[in-house]
Amino acid sequence: MIYLDHAATVSLCPSALEAMLPYLTAQCGNPSALYESGRRARQAVSRARREIAETLGCLPEELYFTSGGTEADNWALLSMAEAARARGEAPFLVSAAIEHHAVLETLRYGKETGLLDYALLPVTGDGVAALSGLDALLAKRPALVSCMGANNETGALQPLGELLARCRERNVPLHSDLVQVYGQLPLKSLLGEELPDLFSVSAHKFGGPKGVGFLYIRRGLAVGALLHGGSQERGRRAGTENVAGIVGMAAAAKVAFAEMAESGEKKRVLTELFFRLLREELPAVYRNGSETARLPGHLNLCFPGVSAELLLILLDQAGIAASAGAACASGALEPSHVLLAMGRSEKEARASIRFSFGAENTEEEVRKAAQIVTNCVKGLQEEQNV
Ligand code: PLP
Repeated sequence: MIYLDHAATVSLCPSALEAMLPYLTAQCGNPSALYESGRRARQAVSRARREIAETLGCLPEELYFTSGGTEADNWALLSMAEAARARGEAPFLVSAAIEHHAVLETLRYGKETGLLDYALLPVTGDGVAALSGLDALLAKRPALVSCMGANNETGALQPLGELLARCRERNVPLHSDLVQVYGQLPLKSLLGEELPDLFSVSAHKFGGPKGVGFLYIRRGLAVGALLHGGSQERGRRAGTENVAGIVGMAAAAKVAFAEMAESGEKKRVLTELFFRLLREELPAVYRNGSETARLPGHLNLCFPGVSAELLLILLDQAGIAASAGAACASGALEPSHVLLAMGRSEKEARASIRFSFGAENTEEEVRKAAQIVTNCVKGLQEEQNV
């Protein structure tokens, strides 16, 4: 199989597996326990917290381990809304139309249950959140602004630095879903020297295990718990810690940060090669999202007149893994809300596929994949013309 879906998930990196094994076997103690194996597990969690904090230049106490990006997003949004309500305000949140479902569905849930109200920033045709209407929204004193660092479908980088500066001017907290950014790009390139007040990270996007991530909460920010129960994570996130997962995430983070520049460049070269090869054979193909301000391994392509769903099936049969949109309840593909928000028609959205490259992809794989995609697209075009 040629795996071109690294934005969805990547395999566990060997050093993460090695670091995790003891905590899945002999060192299986509960970090809350007082005896030896519990103490060791507790120490391992603390070490992992320090190691991840080092990658961010933040305090270890500002990191709260979660079950992944979805939980971290839910926690940030719902608890900031609750905090506003507790202050006697009507919680109002601002986000962007291209956010991941972990943010958009949480907002929808919050609105449906009467917990919060929200507005979404529109996006440009390049897939970047448009800040022209921001001042009017900030004047409403939102409980939180939430904007992702880079979009998972197009890879388009978002104007986080400017957003953070404008939120700070108005004293409005900013949350960012950095699931696609952490471990891929230096945060400084998006944010300068500062960090958002809250941000979400997921381990399985950068070589850690699935089912673990963290929420960064700036020290001193009043954020209540999402999960209630034991006193883990300083009373803010109940539940026995996923020790092996946390240790694996820290090990993967170290590798991802050490190799970031080199693997970023490799992904960029492979992505551009693939696009160039496809364009030579299929000149009508075009890229969705910013040409320049984007993650190095993301390539979202529209194949005009071709059904992305059929193309994905053919590619799967030919041994290529890529993705498009999100499956709806019937299993069929919904047109991507991201592409629709960018002004693409439903037809264009249904003809678009995301290829996402990893540093372990080879030039040979890319050339082979480009050939297979070309053949499949030409085959579908011929069938449709018949
Ligand atoms: N946010 C973004 C931008 C993502 O790409 C993903 C994963 O697809 C998530 C959130 C959800 O993260 P997790 O799979 O850890 O729940």
